[in-house]
Amino acid sequence: MSQHRRLTGPLVIATHNPGKLAEMRELLSPYGIEAQSAGELGLAEPDETGTTFDANARIKALAAMKATGLAAFADDSGLAVDALNGDPGIYSARWAGPDKDFRFAMNRIQTLLIEKGAKAPEQRRCHFVAALCLAWPDGHLEEFEGRVDGVAVWPPRGDAGFGYDPLFLPDGHNRTFGQMSALEKHGLPPHGMGLSHRARAFVMLADACLR
Ligand code: IMP
Repeated sequence: MSQHRRLTGPLVIATHNPGKLAEMRELLSPYGIEAQSAGELGLAEPDETGTTFDANARIKALAAMKATGLAAFADDSGLAVDALNGDPGIYSARWAGPDKDFRFAMNRIQTLLIEKGAKAPEQRRCHFVAALCLAWPDGHLEEFEGRVDGVAVWPPRGDAGFGYDPLFLPDGHNRTFGQMSALEKHGLPPHGMGLSHRARAFVMLADACLR
């Protein structure tokens, strides 16, 4: 028998990021789960003091669950560039600074890669990671991690999506996430098995907790 727990009731999405909220709502909508966000509920944002994506997802989910008494869903994600020892990694949001300027953050990646002489695609390998955590009021946790590998292209291409999307060319594709529709980026069933890191983690979560 599965040890996973099914989610049936209302949910708090523990994010203040409108881009992620829109994606998470889109991912949850086929399952008829009613969800409000931490931002909409005016919840405080906890400090992300973890040193891994999954630790930070857990911190956010537990904080929203404790503040509302409801099941809470959090994601922590980022872009890890191999030649930069995994940076910006868990600091992906912070590299964009207080103005959340991702052109600036993408420029920083490019500057550091050029300093290392990384021009060829194989020197510019990177991956997005998404850790998802679902926390129930009794402390039960369900945790999943998804990843998508690709190359950091320059200059950035496209203006769809958010964050580092225009920089990221997923393996096996000739357009960046910034040039893809949400449907192509996620590649969720029945159209695909999940392309984005968040969709891949979400497919695991849905199999375990939503079906
Ligand atoms: P956090 O998980 O809220 O700490 O933020 C993760 C950061 O990673 C986001 O603000 C984005 O900059 C970046 N990121 C995560 N997922 C994606 C994605 O799907 N596309 C582009 N950037 C992303």
